[in-house]
Amino acid sequence: MVRSTHRHHAVVIGSGLAGLCAARVLADHFERVTVIERDRPADDSRPRKGAPQGGQAHALLKRGERILDRLFPGFVDEIEAHGAHRFDFGQGVRWLHHGVWKARFDSQFPVHVQSRPLIEGRVRARLQQDDRISFRYGSTVEGLRHAEGRVVGVDLRGARCERSALDADLVVDASGRGTRLPRWLEAMGRQAPSEQRFDVDLCYATRIFEAPADAPADWRALLIYGQPPYQTRTGFLFPVEGNRWLVTLVGYLGDHPPGDEAGFQRFVESLPSDELARAIAHARPLGPVRRYRFTHAAMRRYDRLRDLPDGLIAVGDAVCSFDPVFGQGMTMAARDAELLDRHLRRGRLRPRRWFKALHRMNLVPWILAATEGLRFPQLAGCRPPGLKLLQAYCGRVFRLCGHDRAVYRRFIQVLQMVSGPWVLFHPRVLWAVLRHGDRPRALRDDRQRLELAGAPR
Ligand SMILES: Cc1cc2nc3c(=O)[nH]c(=O)nc-3n(C[C@H](O)[C@H](O)[C@H](O)COP(=O)(O)OP(=O)(O)OC[C@H]3O[C@@H](n4cnc5c(N)ncnc54)[C@H](O)[C@@H]3O)c2cc1C
Repeated sequence: MVRSTHRHHAVVIGSGLAGLCAARVLADHFERVTVIERDRPADDSRPRKGAPQGGQAHALLKRGERILDRLFPGFVDEIEAHGAHRFDFGQGVRWLHHGVWKARFDSQFPVHVQSRPLIEGRVRARLQQDDRISFRYGSTVEGLRHAEGRVVGVDLRGARCERSALDADLVVDASGRGTRLPRWLEAMGRQAPSEQRFDVDLCYATRIFEAPADAPADWRALLIYGQPPYQTRTGFLFPVEGNRWLVTLVGYLGDHPPGDEAGFQRFVESLPSDELARAIAHARPLGPVRRYRFTHAAMRRYDRLRDLPDGLIAVGDAVCSFDPVFGQGMTMAARDAELLDRHLRRGRLRPRRWFKALHRMNLVPWILAATEGLRFPQLAGCRPPGLKLLQAYCGRVFRLCGHDRAVYRRFIQVLQMVSGPWVLFHPRVLWAVLRHGDRPRALRDDRQRLELAGAPR
C-alpha cells in the first residue's frame, strides 16, 4: 500500500507507451519518477530494438488519442504538425471486413493515422521536459528488492554490466509482453499469476513505400481483413508521416507472410481483394520487409493472487497483451494510466484492488478480440456457451455496416472505444440484424471457391 505520506519516488520499468503514460500520471503524485529503459534513447523516426513491434502498423484509437491529449495538452496538434494524417473514418477508410466493403460516407468521425514511433516519440519528448521525471537508458531491471513484505526498489544492470540498485516507494512494471515479473515474484517466494492465452501464431510483415503521385483519391487508408474461418490473410495500408505508405500484411495460425520481396508481393496478391496489389503496383519501396511474430495473446491473472506484495503494480502489455486485430494495445495503455490516476487520487494504492480493477477494464476488449479469433476452429481456447450466437450476431452487424450507415456509425464508436459494445445491442441495431442479417452472396461464393479448391486458409 502506498500512502500519501510515502510518495517520494516511483520507478517505472520500461518506456513503451504504457510506461510513459504511467510516468506522466505518477509525476502528479510522487516527488520524483524514474523511468528505466534497457534501450538507448530513441528518436521518433524509427522503431526501437526494445519494442520491435513499433515497425508494424499501429492504429491509435480515438479513445487513446483523447486520453493522450488530456495527459499531454496539445498532443493531437503536435502529431498533426509532425505529419500525422487526419481524415474522416467513414469517408477515408476503405475496408473489406467479413466479406463486405463498409459503407463510405461522412461519418463525422475524424481520426489520425501515423507511425507508432511518432506517437511514442512525441510523448517521450514531453516527459523529457518534465523536471519531476528522469530517464535511465541502457539499464535493465534484473529483479525486485524487498523488505518486510513489500517491494522497496529494483536491481539494475547497466550497459557495461555494472550492477546497481534503486530505492522506490512504488515500482510499476511496464516492461511489455516479455516481462519477467512472474519470475521475480517467485524469487520473492510469492505466487506467479496464471495466464490465459490464445495461440494465434500470427506474423506481421511491413514494408514502407513512397506514396505515389497517382494514389487513389477516393480513400486514404485501406483495410482488407480476411474472413475467419476461411481466410487467414489480412492486409493494411496506412498513410504515415513523410508522404509514405506503411503496408502491413498479417497471417494467422501459421500462415505467415514471407520476409523477402517476392514472397511479400505474392502474399499481397493472395489477399481477399486485389485492391492493395493495385495500389502499390507502381509505388516505390523505401526499405526492406520487416517481420514481427506474435505467437499468442496473453492475459496474466494478477487479480487472482492473494499474496501480492505492497509497493508493486504492473500496467500495459505486461499484464494483458491483446491480439492486435482491433489495435487496442496503445489505447489500453493510456486507459491504464487514467485508472492509475484515479486510484492514486483516492489516497492509497492497494495492489490487489489495482489488479482487480485493471482486469475488469481489460475484459471487454479482450472478449471482443477473442470472439473474432475463436471463429477459427483451429484456435484452441475455452468457448463459452453463447459464443456462437454472439459471433453470428457480430458477423451480421459487421456485414450490415456495408449499407446501414446508422449501424456502421455505432460500430465505429465501439471499435474506437468511445462507446461500449452494448450500443450494438440497441433495438435499432437488433431490428436491423433480424431484418437484413443474411449472409452475402460474395462470401458464400468465396467459401465455395475455397472449399472446392480444397484449401481452406
Ligand atoms: C504486431 C503488433 C501490432 C500491434 N498493433 C497495434 C495497433 O495497431 N494499435 C495499438 O494500439 N496497439 C497495437 N499493438 C500493441 C502495442 O504495441 C502495445 O500494446 C502498446 O505499445 C503498449 O505496450 P507496452 O508499453 O506495455 O510495452 P512495450 O511497448 O513493449 O514496451 C516495453 C518496454 O520495456 C522495456 N523493457 C523490457 N524489459 C525491461 C527491463 N527488464 N528493464 C528495463 N526496460 C525493459 C523495453 O525495452 C520496452 O521499451 C500491437 C502489438 C503488436 C505486437
